[in-house]
Amino acid sequence: MNYEHILIRYAELSLKGKNRKKFESKLEQNIKQALITFPNVKTNRSFGRMFVELHGEDEKAVSEKLKGVFGVYSFSPALKLSLTETNIVDGALWAMKDALPSGSGSFKVTVRRVNKDFPIGSQDMNKVVGGYVLRNMQDLTVDVHQPEVELKVEIRQEAAYVTCKSVRGAGGLPVGTSGKVMLMLSGGIDSPVAGYLALKRGVTIEAIHFHSPPYTNDRARQKVEDIAKVLTQYGGDIKLHIVPFTDIQTKIHKQIPDNYEMTVTRRFMLRIAAVLAEERKAKGIVNGESLGQVASQTLESMYTINEVTNLPILRPLITMDKLEVIDYAKAIGTYDLSILPYEDCCTIFLPAESKTRPTREKSERYEHWLAIDDMVQQAIDGITTVDLKLGEASQPDFEQLF
Ligand code: ATP
Ligand code: MG
Repeated sequence: MNYEHILIRYAELSLKGKNRKKFESKLEQNIKQALITFPNVKTNRSFGRMFVELHGEDEKAVSEKLKGVFGVYSFSPALKLSLTETNIVDGALWAMKDALPSGSGSFKVTVRRVNKDFPIGSQDMNKVVGGYVLRNMQDLTVDVHQPEVELKVEIRQEAAYVTCKSVRGAGGLPVGTSGKVMLMLSGGIDSPVAGYLALKRGVTIEAIHFHSPPYTNDRARQKVEDIAKVLTQYGGDIKLHIVPFTDIQTKIHKQIPDNYEMTVTRRFMLRIAAVLAEERKAKGIVNGESLGQVASQTLESMYTINEVTNLPILRPLITMDKLEVIDYAKAIGTYDLSILPYEDCCTIFLPAESKTRPTREKSERYEHWLAIDDMVQQAIDGITTVDLKLGEASQPDFEQLF
């Protein structure tokens, strides 16, 4: 015998009423995508459950991939057994031996009979299965409160399923069920984590990166590409838009007083991101800001910078401390890339002191000297886009995520 199935649970989805069909088919599609390197794997759905059929593929390797799929709450390797009492008890015994190779430990049986045509009721079947396992594994004890192994038997229309363990999934919602957002992706630690957390809530992302050659070099650009590749493991294919930003930064540096340079730079970034978002039909912008982390992320700064767009700005890290963000970055596999020491466009030209309480009025007054729309349009016209495909980066260690 061998586990040939993985039973997938997606609790939050079942709350979604009429959207449920869409959510389920997206989830199934994303699971297929994540398991694309296992050619024999098939998926199927029935009554609020999804199954991955292994057809000989390695259960452990498939499980590792499943852990990264948003929308999966938990999953269990399962035996699929035809509906006879003998088959079910034999399967249950095999699964118990697999779960407790030493043969000793505590367990509890839960039988659920969904299929009322099956002749033995849940309660009786509980006793039948429990008794059989106990007779065949001498060192086992029953513990209904804190069992080491919870042996679950689900008797359904098409078959009975036996599971012994439940693996926690990534949670969240399937990517592609919440619309599209534009992620402002720097080479830093924060924005990739912000992208990951946005993906977790079901959005698809495109990424925008501001690049200022020759002050920022090709390696800095490559680094951002590599970071975006890591994100494809969670979000599927990602378009990365690289915006030439040198001209704008040079103009700002010439025209704007030192202490407003940073604020005005940010306002330009946001304007460009907003125009691109509208063009690409993204309904919001995600960034890696965390309240009070640096001068540009005070509430006053956000108020002043945010003025240039009406698009919702999602800030998944807004309440996080840097150390929490770093933990995430390590777990999702972006940290080592982010700390590579290449110049970011935000650090060139910028004076040591920036205003922590910039005002909208002053920003507007200073910007008056700049041909804002032309500058934005030129930047948009100069964009180059890289198409990043799922599976180009190595597998992260999902265990660390939880
Ligand atoms: P990060 O680690 O993401 O760079 P940070 O703490 O260094 O964040 P800032 O450099 O002030 O903070 O940037 C704040 C946010 O602005 C970033 O999280 C990112 O979303 C966006 N951003 C900054 N620089 C760029 C860039 N060159 N291209 C695209 N977005 C950027
Ligand atoms: Mg940064």
